[in-house]
Amino acid sequence: MSTTAPLIDQFGRRIRYLRLSVTDRCDLRCTYCMPEAQVFLPRKDVLSLEELEQLALGFIARGVNKIRLTGGEPLVRRDMIELVRALGRQIGTGLDELTLTTNATQLARFAEDLRKAGVRRINVSLDTLDRAKFTALSRRDQLPQVLEGIDAALAAGLSIKLNTVALKGVNDAEIPDLMAWAHSKGMDHTLIEVMPLGEVEADRFDQYLPLSQVRTDLEQRFTLTTSDHRSGGPARYVDVAETGGRLGFITPLTNNFCDGCNRVRVTATGQLFACLGGTEQVDLRAALRSDDCEAALAAALDMAMRIKPERHNFEIRNAGAAPALARHMSMTGG
Ligand code: SAM
Ligand code: SF4
Repeated sequence: MSTTAPLIDQFGRRIRYLRLSVTDRCDLRCTYCMPEAQVFLPRKDVLSLEELEQLALGFIARGVNKIRLTGGEPLVRRDMIELVRALGRQIGTGLDELTLTTNATQLARFAEDLRKAGVRRINVSLDTLDRAKFTALSRRDQLPQVLEGIDAALAAGLSIKLNTVALKGVNDAEIPDLMAWAHSKGMDHTLIEVMPLGEVEADRFDQYLPLSQVRTDLEQRFTLTTSDHRSGGPARYVDVAETGGRLGFITPLTNNFCDGCNRVRVTATGQLFACLGGTEQVDLRAALRSDDCEAALAAALDMAMRIKPERHNFEIRNAGAAPALARHMSMTGG
């Protein structure tokens, strides 16, 4: 198969979006994402800067026009900004958008450089504006740094979409205020249902809050009108009359969104996961480190198209159930 043939899976879906994890490490330990004593990968297993760039270029050659850098926390990787600069040079020559998902703890330091490298929009994850709650939830007292990072990014001219995982008994009462705050700063806001990925100390059943319920609660205070807006992902949006902002819902559990899937995920060790909710994987690092790496990478991507499943099937059925997948979200970056 040619190294420029478009990536189309067996269900006819064109893959144009790569989510590339640049590290599994993180400076926070969000309780729904990873345990306090998370064991990180040995550095030698992680793709080098050159390998990440080569991989990204291979995807762009096959028609991928959007790349999201993620992690773990992408901004804790030391050479991250060099990668952003290298990929930023591809914008306009195949790549339409380079973006990242961050917890914003380091954003104040990097906002200006990201903007200069061609990044225009980023996703920031924030689940609460209450410092004590933030510290309990992320196991680190970093809310002031996060807020500083958000302000620096906005001042640098980056658009921000705020992502919040809805957690029963933790931030459910705060969601309306968080949304109003995000909208008051000109940010879109998206709510996400907690997904059963990886062992953590908490029980997913205790954490799981269906967004259908959050929406009903929000409708007591706000006028929500279904919006046609699409961000190229699984979020479905409403316009909020009182704030003039937009609110998205990502509902992997209450509403399956796989029909229009346009993406694949690659971990920091070069494992391509064809589906966030599945175990189908292809080893791109082996391809990159082989003698004829261009041909090997093309063959590996063709294999990925053959194994991409039609849909995920995770669910949170009952208390005490094992996670649907053994790997943590910090491997694939959400
Ligand atoms: N560290 C960065 C951050 O937090 O934005 C990027 C990686 S993080 C794994 C990406 C997103 O996944 C975050 O918005 C986080 O809240 C979300 N996430 C992590 N574990 C999750 C889970 N089990 N269910 C749903 N979302 C999860
Ligand atoms: Fe780190 Fe992001 Fe996971 Fe929180 S959600 S522990 S910030 S990777």
